[in-house]
Amino acid sequence: MGYVDEVIEQVIAKNPGEPEFHQAVKEVLNSLRPVVDAHEEEYRREALLERLVEPERQLKFRVQWVDDQGKAQVNTGYRVQFNSAIGPFKGGLRLRDNVNLGVIKFLGFEQIFKNSLTGLPIGGGKGGSDFDPKGKSDREIMAFCQSFMTELCKYIGADVDVPAGDIGVGAREIGYMFGQYKKIKGVFEGVLTGKGLTYGGSLARTEATGYGLVYFLDEMLKHNGVDIKGKTVAVSGAGNVAIYATEKAQQLGAKVVTLSDSTGWVYDPEGIDLQAVKEIKEVRRGRIKEYLNYRPNAQYTDGKGVWSVKCDIALPCATQNELLLDDAKALVANGCIAVAEGANMPTSIEATEYLQQNGVLFAPGKASNAGGVATSALEMTQNSERLSWTFEEVDAKLHDIMVNIFRKSAEAAERYGQPKNYVLGANIAGFEKVANAMLAQGI
Ligand code: NDP
Repeated sequence: MGYVDEVIEQVIAKNPGEPEFHQAVKEVLNSLRPVVDAHEEEYRREALLERLVEPERQLKFRVQWVDDQGKAQVNTGYRVQFNSAIGPFKGGLRLRDNVNLGVIKFLGFEQIFKNSLTGLPIGGGKGGSDFDPKGKSDREIMAFCQSFMTELCKYIGADVDVPAGDIGVGAREIGYMFGQYKKIKGVFEGVLTGKGLTYGGSLARTEATGYGLVYFLDEMLKHNGVDIKGKTVAVSGAGNVAIYATEKAQQLGAKVVTLSDSTGWVYDPEGIDLQAVKEIKEVRRGRIKEYLNYRPNAQYTDGKGVWSVKCDIALPCATQNELLLDDAKALVANGCIAVAEGANMPTSIEATEYLQQNGVLFAPGKASNAGGVATSALEMTQNSERLSWTFEEVDAKLHDIMVNIFRKSAEAAERYGQPKNYVLGANIAGFEKVANAMLAQGI
């Protein structure tokens, strides 16, 4: 049995009940085969792959808080500090009822390669809790965030581990957590990113993941002789990533026709009215169904279905495993030419392979959604400098970073004889830097 297969088998045996983690490891290690084959003896001696799939540290802790009825509640908190070979641990916090250790490990593992691809000095980590902010009052959110940070603050720091937002964690939650960290530690430092602009946040961080996704997409399309202008785009999700991906796609002349949330999805053939969506989601924290109040001619459907719409480009921006084989078949049948992942691992392995085999340009999330963490790293730089850059400066740096990530991924894919296989290219380019750093630092 080859080295890659041995390690995949070990991961499955050692981490039972963590299917998302197994999926992420398989996806990455399978595409690293050409590199591993070329260095097998050295990697085996150094147990490089075994070390890569084992987090440096994983924390699991009790989060206790009191709800508005005066009743005590208990959730489980997690932080997986996966790999610090190239910099302090960095990665978001997810608050959602379906969070468990396996989900956090899959996200932390992906984060290692994503962070490496940005070219910035950040290691990989991820955290969160099975607490679901939906339907909770502001006071309950604050109580939860303070309790969560009371424990987490022992293990993080501006040069140690710098968490950020993810699903369910936006500016409000980061604010409460930052306040609690400062109160307990007595130090004002850039320990979290995605902070508010009045206390160390970076301009363009809110927009960064969605904008970065479309910068990457635009570069990939140009490289393949396609103009984004005039293209019809299907987007899933209606959160931070989906909203700003829609905004940038519209700015570049594309027409976005769908958005969704966990209850249903809207189809607006005339193009999504983003101001309406921002008001529903960012101001009122409502449901996407309310879109019909603004645009009565649009259609709303309960459940899933975004990928059944005819489009040139699909941008999955909601959650993991939301684009499956049947969805991929529908996209291909409808003439879709490109899929770029805004969410983390939204496309299953079978769906990814089907899309690639049918000539669809496929941008893997660890490359195409890296703009968020890259801009978080720029926030860390500004905090260290005690300076704030303008929106235009940050946005220009973000654009350069995304173009570079595309080029690195395309170059690695070509070097290993599979041009246009950006999954392979991104995994290899992300891995090489981390592997070199791990080997240099010894056992
Ligand atoms: P938000 O919480 O802002 O939005 C998430 C959106 O996806 C919401 O519309 C939500 O619907 C929907 N959604 C979440 N879970 C499910 C589900 N199980 N089924 C259907 N719909 C679901 O999160 P973000 O936009 O920040 O994150 C979206 C994705 O992008 C995630 O995969 C995240 O890891 C990834 N990502 C985010 C980055 C960032 O900077 N924010 C950076 C890189 C990646 P509802 O409101 O009903 O819950």
